[in-house]
Parts: sequence; C-alpha cells; structure tokens
Amino acid sequence: MSLLKIAIQKSGRLSEDSLKLFKECGIKVNNGAKKLKAVSSNFPVEFLYLRDDDIPGYVEDGIADIGVVGENVYLEARKKVELVKRLGFSKCRLSLAIPRDVDYSGVTFFDGKSIATSYPVILEKYLNKQNVKAEIHKISGSVEIAPGIGLAEGICDIVSSGSTLLSNGLKEVETVTKSEAVMVGNRGLDEEKKRLLDQLLFRLDAVLVGKNNKYVLLNAPNEKLDEIISLLPGMRSPTVLPLATEGWSSIHSVINEDEFWENIQKLREAGAEGVLVVPIEKMIR
Ligand code: ATP
Ligand code: ZN
Repeated sequence: MSLLKIAIQKSGRLSEDSLKLFKECGIKVNNGAKKLKAVSSNFPVEFLYLRDDDIPGYVEDGIADIGVVGENVYLEARKKVELVKRLGFSKCRLSLAIPRDVDYSGVTFFDGKSIATSYPVILEKYLNKQNVKAEIHKISGSVEIAPGIGLAEGICDIVSSGSTLLSNGLKEVETVTKSEAVMVGNRGLDEEKKRLLDQLLFRLDAVLVGKNNKYVLLNAPNEKLDEIISLLPGMRSPTVLPLATEGWSSIHSVINEDEFWENIQKLREAGAEGVLVVPIEKMIR
C-alpha cells in the first residue's frame, strides 16, 4: 500500500501550525526528536521535514506528493505544481517599504530606484504590471537593514504587524501580494495517491469550514422568533426548542463568524438574550 508523502517545514513559522492542522484532521504522528521523516500511525501518510524553500521543487519532482508552504514561496519558486488548497494560517503580505522620513508619492517613486528583496520573481512581475523600472537586489535574509546600510533605497519583504519595519525606521507603502499557507501538490499523482489526497481534503475541509463557523444558542420570546430566524441563515434552518418559561424558546444555529459580528446587534435589538457562541471542531456540509 502506498503512503502519501507530505512535505512540511522542518522548523520555522509554518511548522507548528501545519502539524496542528493535520492533527485536527485526526492524523497522528510521532515526531519526537524531529527526524527527517515520520509515518503516521493511523493514516497512510509520511511527513518529510524540509526547508520551506525546497518544498515546491521536491513536490514538482515527486520526492513529496504534497507540501505546505507560504503562498509567497509557492509564487516565487515558479515550479510546476498544483495549488491544491488555501489553509488559512500564516497570513501575511509582501510589501514595499522605504525609509520613514522619505516622501512617497505613489508607486512611480520606485522608478530608477534600487530595491532589496528575497522575492525577485514576485517583485519583478509586480513592477512590470505597474510599469515601473527598478533595480532589484536579491538578498537572502535581513532585508529590512538594506536601506540603513546603503544597499538599496527600498525593500520588498514579508510584513504581518509591521513592527519589524518600524524598528528599522521604515514605512510600508505598497502591498505587492497577500499570502497564507497553501497546500501544493504534484501534478502526476497516481490513482491511489489521488484517492488518499481526496480523503485528506475531505477532512481538511471539515476542519477549515468548522473554524470559520460558530454554533450559536440564544433565547427569545416566541413572538420574535420569525424576525430572529430571518437573521440566522444556518446550515438548513435553525433548531427551535421551547424553554421551561412559557412563551420563550431557545434557538440554535450555525453562523459564519463574519456574519455573526454583522448580525449580533440586530439580534439583540430583535429581543435575543443569553447568546452563547461555541466553536465548531468539524463541520461536514
Ligand atoms: P526556512 O529555514 O525553512 O527556510 P524561513 O526563514 O524561510 O524558513 P519562516 O520565517 O519560518 O521561513 O517563514 C515561513 C513562512 O511563514 C513565510 O514564507 C511566510 O509565508 C510566513 N511568514 C513569514 N513571516 C510571517 C509573519 N510575520 N506572520 C505570518 N506569517 C509569516
Ligand atoms: Zn525559507
């Protein structure tokens, strides 16, 4: 029987969340001292622990069948691999930044300027689209210090909170691309591996959809039920149960997290009380 080989980052920002996600899919793996690879004890997969930059290439070559990398790494690598699924963690962006005290007029600022980055492919594509001609310096780390040491006039780097930029006297001026962890896959998987990948994707979907939804319970007077139900889309329709107190009901429904915040005020105005919001571990549509 074949094993689906999954490449994940050995140690870095993606490692822990990648393993956690597979664990939430019910895949157990004993990765004690973080060896080079580990086979799951309850699902036919083998994890390969690699440097993130090498993962797209290994997946293209079939050393690994699928892999988890930042979208930025996937885009930069330009390998012939499939983008199988967005995983919703390690959200960040690739941005252009310049010294804080330099005036910025718009993206044409970069015409004729030099920019340091570890992402020359993504940056060049962006600059071409903006019709800007700049000189790109590829450096592999500590990009944020480049302007300070006179290597470049601007940088293009990963940003999440912006605190690294701030502490290096830089300001963010353009977003080049957004990024999150993604699953990439080899383009020539055989039937058995495709079947395993489908099983894995089914589980992943249940976990990821669950994370985006909440189970909501609330109490309401019976005469307000119709109005409140109209604010709760639910999977099919809400469950309505009578409370011990005459004339009151408990309503249970599933609601998308974003919709919840949009609707909570309206629900309260409509007479909802005692609202409970409970996380959903898995959800199968
Ligand atoms: P490796 O040693 O494996 O080459 P690395 O130093 O290149 O690791 P990390 O810093 O661990 O990579 O980042 C891995 C990925 O996490 C990045 O490619 C990016 O997609 C994402 N990432 C990086 N910085 C942040 C951040 N501040 N917030 C959220 N996600 C981030
Ligand atoms: Zn890396």
